[in-house]
Amino acid sequence: MNDIMQRLRHSYISGLTRPLSWRLQQLSQLEQLLNEHEQALLDALQSDLGKSAAEGWLSEIGFLQSDLRHTRKHLKRWMKPKRVGQPLLTAPGRSYIYPEPLGVVLIMGAWNYPLQLLLSPLIAALAAGNCAIVKPSELAPKTAELLARLLPDYLANEAVQVITGGADVAAALLEQRFDHIFYTGGGRVGRIVMSAAAQHLTPVTLELGGKSPAVVLSDADLQTSARRIAWGKWLNAGQTCIAPDYVLVAAEVHDRFVQALVDAITELYGDTPREAEDYGRIVNTAHWQRLVNYLDDGTIASGGEHDKDERFLAPTVLTQVSPESPVMQEEIFGPILPIIAVPNLAEAIHFIRERDKPLALYGFSASAHSLQQLTEQTHAGSQCNNDTLMFMLNPALPFGGVGPSGMGSYHGKFGFDTFSHQKALMHRPFWFDPKFRYPPYTTFKQKL
Ligand code: NAD
Repeated sequence: MNDIMQRLRHSYISGLTRPLSWRLQQLSQLEQLLNEHEQALLDALQSDLGKSAAEGWLSEIGFLQSDLRHTRKHLKRWMKPKRVGQPLLTAPGRSYIYPEPLGVVLIMGAWNYPLQLLLSPLIAALAAGNCAIVKPSELAPKTAELLARLLPDYLANEAVQVITGGADVAAALLEQRFDHIFYTGGGRVGRIVMSAAAQHLTPVTLELGGKSPAVVLSDADLQTSARRIAWGKWLNAGQTCIAPDYVLVAAEVHDRFVQALVDAITELYGDTPREAEDYGRIVNTAHWQRLVNYLDDGTIASGGEHDKDERFLAPTVLTQVSPESPVMQEEIFGPILPIIAVPNLAEAIHFIRERDKPLALYGFSASAHSLQQLTEQTHAGSQCNNDTLMFMLNPALPFGGVGPSGMGSYHGKFGFDTFSHQKALMHRPFWFDPKFRYPPYTTFKQKL
């Protein structure tokens, strides 16, 4: 690892990664990799997570391709030093904000979107002119192996290295001195990453998780809300960091909403989701067992079927759930959706505010005023009204958590900024050099 670090640092210092042309070339190489190995990547996702080709394309490969297009289109402008104003005190002169790369960065991915969560930060890191070590998650082994094989064929090896392995490898990596660490995963390891980074005063971006609530008010279009919640929840079998974790629904429409949700599940996955091509599997047996244990925490209104050999767990709706039960204390990160009735918006807001700041918050209502109250009176990494997940497809929006759901953000220009230092740059001419700024401060003393 020391050798790899030295090699990357040497490349960085040599200036290799600085020119726009180099950055653009690396990004097009990445695009070529995605195009030429689309099928192999989809197969790896299928093998790791039972992801259908359509889902794998939509949520991973297609996402990355549009990220690449957006970055390549705007990169020249993002890199340009931005001229800013100059107060009289510092005139004459010119001031700029000059984005400079950070150096050698570490990117650690999570297993649930093993391609997107590793390569999207890499796109941002390369665009910003950095060298990078990428560490795929060991829990999606087929994707990790494939990336470790393909990336060196497409990207400059002296600037990008893939290191595979588990917690021990990650721990060894974290002992190195990086210029930035970008970590995606759970809060437990997030704490390990942050304390390791503190030893070198390395800044971190932590893309973590948590319990993202959906609030459904009585004036919402219940059918559309249910369909959109079902889509966001059961994509990737619920293993999405911004999936709605639980629903707070207005008591007066509770039963109608639950029915609409059950109907939506049938609409999306048919009567036997186990046979649905577009329904995924749980990543491993340990996670499957953890999820099956939650089934006892409420009344199963729909779903509940499970099979260990297949790591299958049906889309499940739980009602009569106590807020104190494990399913409401821990991030579910799987296909179980608890529904809790609340009397009104104020109670829903109170419920959310009593808990950790979530990564995402979803409000469903026909009332702009109610949705505004939800925005103003809660905290969340992101909020999306009357839909789920869609906000992450807009590269003009930052993606990241707040408090226990993370720190820092990326996507589009926000990713470029995360991997850049905004250097203050001032130019002053020699020709104007009045004496009053220098001691002895006679001019000022006369005024005192
Ligand atoms: P994971 O197990 O894949 O771990 C993430 C990374 O941490 C991996 O690279 C892994 O090798 C490394 N790691 C594991 N143990 C370690 C240790 N002891 N020391 C150092 N490194 C270690 O992922 P996970 O934590 O199971 O991911 C699920 C969590 O991630 C959920 O909470 C989810 O909400 C969150 N998540 C967040 C985002 C986001 O964008 N905010 C995206 C996906 C997942």
